[in-house]
Amino acid sequence: MTDELTQVVQWLGLRLCVPAEWEIVRHSLSLEQGSLVFVDRRRETLRIYWRDCETMPDLNRMVSDQRSKDVVEFAGATVKNLSGYAGWQGTIREEGPEKRSVHAVKYDSPTQRLIQAIITEASEAAACKSQRAALLNDIKVVSKANEARDFCAFGLNVTVPLGFRLLKATAKPADVTFEFAEVDTKHSRPTGKGVTVHRMGMAAAWVPEDKQQLLVKENPQISLRNFQGISRGKHPAIVAHGQETRPRLLSMLGVGRRGDALLWHCEKMNAVYSVATRYLKRTPLEITALSTPCCDEGRND
Ligand SMILES: [Zn+2]
Repeated sequence: MTDELTQVVQWLGLRLCVPAEWEIVRHSLSLEQGSLVFVDRRRETLRIYWRDCETMPDLNRMVSDQRSKDVVEFAGATVKNLSGYAGWQGTIREEGPEKRSVHAVKYDSPTQRLIQAIITEASEAAACKSQRAALLNDIKVVSKANEARDFCAFGLNVTVPLGFRLLKATAKPADVTFEFAEVDTKHSRPTGKGVTVHRMGMAAAWVPEDKQQLLVKENPQISLRNFQGISRGKHPAIVAHGQETRPRLLSMLGVGRRGDALLWHCEKMNAVYSVATRYLKRTPLEITALSTPCCDEGRND
């Protein structure tokens, strides 16, 4: 277990690094409290929980409750204290030489967030120790969940302007979509601005020569015009501007929204990236200014 932690994950104001082959199998979008669950090819490896806590909870009490629970529920197990990991406290439950469950907890005062990590280890203790240290050391609380701007998961990497919330994340094999909407924090109301980012994998097998047609197909709810070839980093891209065509939203908002769309093919990632925006005419949103890097050659920032 000495896999390097090369996969960066950013989610609702948390940042962590995990081995490349770990996958997220469960994710929540809740700002106040939620979790991310990771697996490798065989089993669950890591769970991260977050919870808003205005005042610092009694961590010693939490750890001692966990210890008592483990002692009762896992009669044959040895429960030790987790020590030597800066900022973290917790327990290590050992059920055998190659079966351990590490429960770690920490409180981040600046953001008033409680973070819990459960690491499941399935190799000898010595082999797991350096990875455990690296995992815990790399779990950072970047911001409050409602101020999170960087989202990096499922092969998508998106930075949205402050005030945008992740409304939906759909991750299917080789097909990932994130949908964001701007929320007026004072009134918790949508402002009419939205961003959708879609990553379609296995592109070599299906990507058409005609990207304009693909852009139109991707955005059936926008009547697109003014197609233009631009570059996204070093990749050729196509952008178009238009008007949303959904009558339900027209009536809800009283006015039609603008809609812009951008699409490019990244050969290095073997994927097509499609970005779409919605906004009202008086509050424009520049689609080409959104940061959605595919690879180091696709950076536009
Ligand atoms: Zn690229």
